[in-house]
Amino acid sequence: MLNIVLFGPPGAGKGTQSEKIIEKYQLSHLSTGDLFRKHLNEGTELGKTAQKYMDEGKLVPDSVVIGMVEDKIKDTPDTHGFIFDGFPRTVAQAEALDELMTKLGDYINGMIALEVPDKELKTRIKKRALTSGRVDDQDDDKINTRIKVYKEETLPVAEYYHKQGKFHKTDGVGSIDKIFSSLTRVIDQL
Ligand code: AMP
Repeated sequence: MLNIVLFGPPGAGKGTQSEKIIEKYQLSHLSTGDLFRKHLNEGTELGKTAQKYMDEGKLVPDSVVIGMVEDKIKDTPDTHGFIFDGFPRTVAQAEALDELMTKLGDYINGMIALEVPDKELKTRIKKRALTSGRVDDQDDDKINTRIKVYKEETLPVAEYYHKQGKFHKTDGVGSIDKIFSSLTRVIDQL
C-alpha cells in the first residue's frame, strides 16, 4: 500500500491535489472534513457533534475524529492505499494513525506539506466561499481562527513526521498542474 499524508493549512489546495493523486495512483481519498460534511448533511449524531466546532473553525475532538477514521479505513478494504487529507491535525491523531496502520500491518510512507503564504490562503478561501456553501469559508473571523488553529495545533504534526524522516514539502503556489507535478516527483520517491 501507498499511504500519504497531504498536509497544509486551510486553502492550501489539499482537496484539489488529492483528487488528482487518487486518480493517478489509484488510491482512496480519506478527507476528514468531507466525512464530517457528509455526516452533517445526513443529520447523524456524529454530524451534530462536529457542527459546532466546524462552524467556529475549531478542531473536532480527537476521539471523535479518530473513531470516524478507523471506521472509514475498515470500510475500505482492498485499496492500494490512502491519501489522508486534513488528517492528522494534532499529534494525538498522528499517533493514533500510526497505531491503526500498525494494526493493519502497514505504515505511512510519507507526509507532503503544501506551502502557501497566509495572504494567498485568505484570497483562495474567499474565492471558494462563492461556490462551496461552507459556513466556515464565509467570514474573516472564521478564516483567521482556522489559520490560527492550524499554526498552534496542527503544525506540530509536521515535526512529528520530520522526526520519523518522513517529512517532505512542495511549493503550493502556481498552477494546479505545476503543483501536481512537484507532488508526483515526491510521491514517486516514497
Ligand atoms: P477541512 O475541510 O479539512 O478544512 O475541515 C473542515 C473542518 O472540519 C475543520 O475546520 C474542523 O472543524 C473539522 N475537521 C476536519 N478534519 C479534522 C481533524 N482531523 N481534526 C479535527 N477537526 C477536523
